[in-house]
Amino acid sequence: MNSPIVRVALDVPLPRGFDYLASDATIDDVGRRVCVPFGRGEKIGVILEVLSTSGLPPEKLKPVRAILRDAPPFPPDWLGLADFCSRYYQHPLGEVIALALPPAMRRRDALPRMPDREIFRITEDGRHALPQLVQRSIAARLLAALELNGRMTRRELREVSVSAAKQLPGLLEKGWLVVEVEAPSLKAAAGPDLLEEQRQAVERVAQAFGRFSPFLLHGVTGSGKTEVYLRLIEQALERGGQALLLVPEIALTPQLEARVSNRFPGARLVSLHSSLAEGARAAGFLQALNGEADIVLGTRLSVFTPLPRLALMVVDEEHDPSFKQQEGMRYSARDVAVWRAKQRNVPIVLGSATPSLESWAAAQAGRYQLLELTSRAVAEAMPEVRCVDTRREKLQDGMSEHLLRAIAERLERGEQSLVFLNRRGYAPVLACPSCGWVSRCPGCAANLVVHLADKRLRCHHCGREERIPVACPTCGNQDIHPFGRGTQRLEETLAARFPQARILRVDRDSAKSQSCWHAVLEAIHKGETDILVGTQMLAKGHDFPNLTLVGVLNADAALFAADFRAPERLFAQLMQVGGRSGRAALPGQVLVQTQYPDHPLYRALAAHDFAAFADAQLAERERAGFPPFTHQAMLRAEAPELKQALAFLKTAWELGGGMSPGEISLYDAVPMRLHRLAHLERAQLLVESRSRPALQGFLTQWLAAIRELKAPRALRWHIDVDPLEF
Ligand code: ADP
Ligand code: ZN
Ligand code: ZN
Repeated sequence: MNSPIVRVALDVPLPRGFDYLASDATIDDVGRRVCVPFGRGEKIGVILEVLSTSGLPPEKLKPVRAILRDAPPFPPDWLGLADFCSRYYQHPLGEVIALALPPAMRRRDALPRMPDREIFRITEDGRHALPQLVQRSIAARLLAALELNGRMTRRELREVSVSAAKQLPGLLEKGWLVVEVEAPSLKAAAGPDLLEEQRQAVERVAQAFGRFSPFLLHGVTGSGKTEVYLRLIEQALERGGQALLLVPEIALTPQLEARVSNRFPGARLVSLHSSLAEGARAAGFLQALNGEADIVLGTRLSVFTPLPRLALMVVDEEHDPSFKQQEGMRYSARDVAVWRAKQRNVPIVLGSATPSLESWAAAQAGRYQLLELTSRAVAEAMPEVRCVDTRREKLQDGMSEHLLRAIAERLERGEQSLVFLNRRGYAPVLACPSCGWVSRCPGCAANLVVHLADKRLRCHHCGREERIPVACPTCGNQDIHPFGRGTQRLEETLAARFPQARILRVDRDSAKSQSCWHAVLEAIHKGETDILVGTQMLAKGHDFPNLTLVGVLNADAALFAADFRAPERLFAQLMQVGGRSGRAALPGQVLVQTQYPDHPLYRALAAHDFAAFADAQLAERERAGFPPFTHQAMLRAEAPELKQALAFLKTAWELGGGMSPGEISLYDAVPMRLHRLAHLERAQLLVESRSRPALQGFLTQWLAAIRELKAPRALRWHIDVDPLEF
């Protein structure tokens, strides 16, 4: 009799499974975690198959250490999802699975305890027995505690005695206590009466329960998209299903979490994101796997949550670039979600005020059903958008007199203003006006950014830190200034102009932790601040009722950027930031400072006409042969010297040229825009095709050949399928 063999996916960069002997393995162990010896140590993997023979001779196979049966196995559809990602993103399956698991499940730790839903009570028999028991015996203490408290959870009983768990089965058998499992209440709290368009949207999606049907829900901020999600979740729960709600950044959306839990007070809501404590994350994941969680709300990684009763998927702010992972497996959680909805035969709703052009094109082509919410749910005007022509004005630290006067008006009326800038590219660097020296990072093709608060210079790419020098290191000039308009610099300028105003700067640093961020939001809501200076962070998902003015600085750079997606991002950001203003009774105004006031992008923005903008962009992309009309993949390499990276890509290019059918275009390798990062030189090679299957087939074959190449030891490469960054 041969011992069964298990084929295991391990977290190693090799595109294959590993075989081990497992004498006690059965077919039911497929999808279970397993601890195996690997090299000198051990690893936790997941069993992909149970086999009777291996390609390797039996004497070469090592036995597993243990199959971990403390949790249900991952179901076949979950393994199928990982397998799809592995193939589509050309990433080793073992690494995909490791990425999908919470860190605690990648180790052999005891799994976290699940939330307590068992309720114990003492019975009449128990009450009679109590006086006869040995005083202070564990049984007596447990019964006495139950007599006193009425109902207790397992955890509470454990606090009475650490041996409670051992005693409970015996006590139950004697009939001295009873246990019941608290059933969740799936009842939703009342919501507002739906508007006609909302009602239609809900109805159309609800008709699609039980089959794959993708929807694009397009509506400006405040048009009631979230209300549509909540109604659909309600229906999914009523049908006994689970709902998965993906959001771009959970740290920024505590309001949404509160809204979901207020609407479904009795449902089991699990939040999953990477800043969660490990124990909580593993517990949430397990609850979902056990089918216990009703609603999973999470960031991109939660697209991999096992959901045996999945009935509905929602991707909110579906256009947001943070759904795309920019390291390791470079997956798009939105695209993976759509695939998963198809695999599981469930409807999926992609919601946005400014859909990605990919999704918009899919809706135009009829592959997605378009649902439109055309007005704000609470009768409010859209903010008025106006361009301030900066060609005729002298700017004061980047701000026009027009904008400054508008801020002064808001101050007089006791209303709030937001000065918005995209920090990308506008971070303050230290510069010497006499010799032209700027604070460059020695490791990267980037400047060190001034952080006045702790008097440090920091590289935002590699993390290098230095003290701010007192004099120019080149010429000794002591009069060196931060240059450029970072949020800190703007804050100072505004403070000088409006000494009486309370100014609050909001950037990535202020959102470092949930509690910091809560404090910031609280201050804004209470009206403890007059002028906000901020970056994208402020644009997402918050209502500021007293905010009536948004000033936008330096938007023009995006109009002429090398990245063909820059206008799409700018439009989305400006729509979003404009949506912050005037959501209460006060009408809002957005002032965009620009040298191109007649640019079609700004005109569409002023008309709140996303469709006009999107259609024009799509026409341009079609002419230029950009996505979504072509499909792309990027091979990137980094090495200590640029020529090494370029030489490697050149070899890859030659390999590809030899095997590629006519439908594939391979471009020349080029240095990246940020070509030097953390002392490594980076270059990239673009592959493009009008046919996705052709591209997929080519990539599989090409990468197999690239893996065989002898590259310099210090060289690293990766593939990015559907890249967003150039
Ligand atoms: P979005 O997600 O599109 O930004 P929300 O669903 O958050 O929009 O709705 C914006 C505001 O309007 C919220 O305060 C919400 O409670 C309210 N709202 C949504 N739908 C309705 C409705 N049908 N009747 C009244 N208020 C509504
Ligand atoms: Zn100098
Ligand atoms: Zn650096």
